[in-house]
Amino acid sequence: MAIKSIKQNYTFSEDITSLMNIFKEMVNFCIKIGLQENISTLKRFSSLHYKDLSQFDIPSKYKLTAMSQAMGRLAQRKRDMGKGRFTKSPFVLKPYLVSCYDFKITAMFLSFPIANNDKFLVKLNEYTISQLKNVEPRSFTITPNSISISVRREVVQIIPENVIGIDRNLRNVTISTNVGTIMYKTNKLLSIKENSSHVRASFTRNDVRTKNKFFNQKKNRQSRRVRQYLHKISKDVVERAVKSKSMIVFEDLKGIRKLYRRSNGQGNKYRRRLNSWSYFELLRQVEYKASWTGIPVGFVDPKRTSQLCPICGGRLQEDRFHRRKLLCINCKKSMDRDVIASMNIAYKGWSRFCHPRGLPSEVMNRNVSTPLILRVDGSKLIEVQK
Ligand SMILES: [Zn+2]
Repeated sequence: MAIKSIKQNYTFSEDITSLMNIFKEMVNFCIKIGLQENISTLKRFSSLHYKDLSQFDIPSKYKLTAMSQAMGRLAQRKRDMGKGRFTKSPFVLKPYLVSCYDFKITAMFLSFPIANNDKFLVKLNEYTISQLKNVEPRSFTITPNSISISVRREVVQIIPENVIGIDRNLRNVTISTNVGTIMYKTNKLLSIKENSSHVRASFTRNDVRTKNKFFNQKKNRQSRRVRQYLHKISKDVVERAVKSKSMIVFEDLKGIRKLYRRSNGQGNKYRRRLNSWSYFELLRQVEYKASWTGIPVGFVDPKRTSQLCPICGGRLQEDRFHRRKLLCINCKKSMDRDVIASMNIAYKGWSRFCHPRGLPSEVMNRNVSTPLILRVDGSKLIEVQK
């Protein structure tokens, strides 16, 4: 079963927003009682305190979801505390409403109860309707200016015939497939981030509230633009995987942020650039898109992915004449560092997930000719062969 949610912008009227406010207060009320009496299971809470919710004027089905929302937050808090993480008491600030009961999706509308025997209709747009085909709606969430519908469908995971290895770098994302290597340039992402921080630095007024508002606006705009840019790349990667029946392999970058901390002997600018890369956003997007289409995703150890030759398995040397290139003495070839890394990730993935008995060295020794390298501008996705 694969799950995803479809979001649509929609501005709700006053009375529906006040319903969301009641829901929010109900969730906060449940959290407060749960904290006081140390309850974090829905069963126990509803048997003890369901009666107390009668003070809220809202259809009773929403009381159930409010309790389960509150208990979910408290259970998460307990898990975090068990792992020794710092936690605050949960509290909901913005009005919203969730439910998995009593809502209906017809050809053009989403309808949900707002009072006994009274329903509210939301007109869905064309995109949402097209996405709702052949899926099972599970629940809906509304906020004062959006609706999200959570849907699921049964997906049969493919048996991979090929492997796509993805290497995430500062200025590009390189993937190696069965037909060649594709390099998505991501220079634009760096400039989006640089611009955004310049704009924020230009703020001079001595007023904390205005400053916070301004900073949040710019931060939100920046992350929207970055996300949008990465969506193009992740969509293209998953489409290629579907076409070639490949599984997608990433390097396991746990702890990458520790590499660029203060006092690691790197400059401020360098650290800022490397720490601003959205490694995990790309991973998140590829993961959910892949699970929706039945493409498996795996991880391999990044150790030595840019030290060994993907063709003969020998050790590589720095190329003194080209920056970011590496030289293999056996093959007498000089290749791009990022291309080598993505090929090695793909081979590691192949030996680990598709060829469990083979040794990594065996796979390394496959006779591979020099790969075809395509350079792609991430924003346009027009292929330029080189
Ligand atoms: Zn070699």
